[in-house]
Amino acid sequence: ATLPYDDSNIFAKILRGEIPCTKVYEDDHALAFNDISPQAPTHILVIPKGAYVSWDDFSARGSDAEIAGFVRAVGAVARDAGLVAPGYRLLANAGTHSLQEVPHLHVHIVAGRPLGPLLV
Ligand code: 5GP
Repeated sequence: ATLPYDDSNIFAKILRGEIPCTKVYEDDHALAFNDISPQAPTHILVIPKGAYVSWDDFSARGSDAEIAGFVRAVGAVARDAGLVAPGYRLLANAGTHSLQEVPHLHVHIVAGRPLGPLLV
């Protein structure tokens, strides 16, 4: 079962402005910022503004407006960052086996070099 949302997670603090981030995009439903430990030349995290732990939690509890807004934001970030032509990868961890570290839904956008095959 999905864990209850914990307001003390680091991305909740970023959303509240309690700790800084390098913002690359923001709208009513989503915030995007650079990953603090980038795994590729471009490594952006996109998060919904609502309190959701994971993709499964968001898809179950999020409103249609929140879900549509978030999906559109991920695409807007990729377009704004010039990633469409070279290409990019989206990745979202959820739960123990994935080693999800921060329990607020986030989509990783990684790009900027050939990424190789998806290794699991
Ligand atoms: P996960 O493993 O949960 O999918 O990914 C969490 C990501 O958040 C990691 O890539 C990690 O580098 C990033 N991260 C952790 N703490 C911070 C932080 O305080 N600021 C930013 N910008 N990224 C963070």
